[in-house]
Amino acid sequence: MNVNRRRPFRNPISVAVAWLFLLQITAAYTGAYDLGTTVADMRHAASASGGTSCPQLTRSNISTPGSINRQWSTSLGTTPVTILTADQTPAGRLNEIAAVIQTSLSVWTNVSGTLLVPSTLGTLQQTSTAAACSSSDGLNSICFNQNDAGFALGVLAFTRVVSADSVGEQLSSTSAPSTFIGEILDADVLLLPGNSNTTFATPAALPSNPNAYDLESIVTHELGHSFGFNHSGEWSAMMFPFAPPPGQFTAARPTTQSPDAPLSDDDRTGLRILYPDPTDSAHIGAISGRVLPANPLALPAAPAGVTGIFPAQVVAVDNATGTVTAAVMAGWSCGDPGPAQFDGTFSLQRLMVGTSQSYEIYAEPLDGPVVLGNVIYNLTSLCRNSTTDPGWPAQYACTAPPSAAPFSARIQPGP
Ligand SMILES: [Zn+2]
Repeated sequence: MNVNRRRPFRNPISVAVAWLFLLQITAAYTGAYDLGTTVADMRHAASASGGTSCPQLTRSNISTPGSINRQWSTSLGTTPVTILTADQTPAGRLNEIAAVIQTSLSVWTNVSGTLLVPSTLGTLQQTSTAAACSSSDGLNSICFNQNDAGFALGVLAFTRVVSADSVGEQLSSTSAPSTFIGEILDADVLLLPGNSNTTFATPAALPSNPNAYDLESIVTHELGHSFGFNHSGEWSAMMFPFAPPPGQFTAARPTTQSPDAPLSDDDRTGLRILYPDPTDSAHIGAISGRVLPANPLALPAAPAGVTGIFPAQVVAVDNATGTVTAAVMAGWSCGDPGPAQFDGTFSLQRLMVGTSQSYEIYAEPLDGPVVLGNVIYNLTSLCRNSTTDPGWPAQYACTAPPSAAPFSARIQPGP
């Protein structure tokens, strides 16, 4: 979705919205993290577009300490009360909610092998403005009392991420120009306000409010979006698109000894790809290949040029532990200057290496409960063309195919 043409600032920018849904999960399911991507606006000069139409990861600029600003709105719904706390004094409520936000942030900034560390984040600020989640202010905000058209039926929370599709983009005359394609310029987290059927409880209040959703799980998930994640089909991942049932929380609570505890290895691997630590010598393995149909005629006739399965989830299971180490939303590749090719390519990266380390790899279709639309919200994050963007240069145009029909996988053994 390209929106918000504001002169004189160079636009459009790319806006992705990720919703957290309410759904009972009926079957165990494994899948894949997926990272947000942005295609540069190739109608600009190479100095602004970077000269390539290959999808670029959507991520925050962490080049200077404290560069990711944070604020939350202390405006809370009172009729009904939507955020339940154990301490019900006014100051106590705010302290308890601020602690949940801090804990949720630390979950993401305590993963080994990444440069998203606590010092990357600015001090958590407060604002009394209810509608603080404006996508145009360049402030990364969390709102508990702001209504929005994004709250469709069943949506508990969502994050609106605005990213740059050219270098030098500004959200306002006072905001810093973007320095790379995919740079997150604004990421706002909104929780459903004023709904008498839906309440959120802090960990301290959850045991006595079993019909409330766990505030910490929801905020931690949404902050994952704010750092650049799409959803994961891995049911135990923090980035699984469906919230835990009321009264329950995702995975384990973080502790001082294990501050990233609620994340799964799938989440951690995704974060290492988004914000890699160049000194990390443990997670440097990669496995790549292609997912191909046994019968090439099974590929869709349109768009032309589709030579492999898209999308497929390709999963790496650690043979020693049986856990999903990493999984990717696969099916495309891209070499500069692009565009993306839908050739069934997968590439699992940042895998742990070691003499006893081995993985089993398998592919599976996205046929529910998580489907393509839950993971990649807008296919223009992979491909743009003259239909999506008038005047788009033909040599950089592509069209993403519709989701592949469900398939069964047979793995060809390696050498
Ligand atoms: Zn989500």
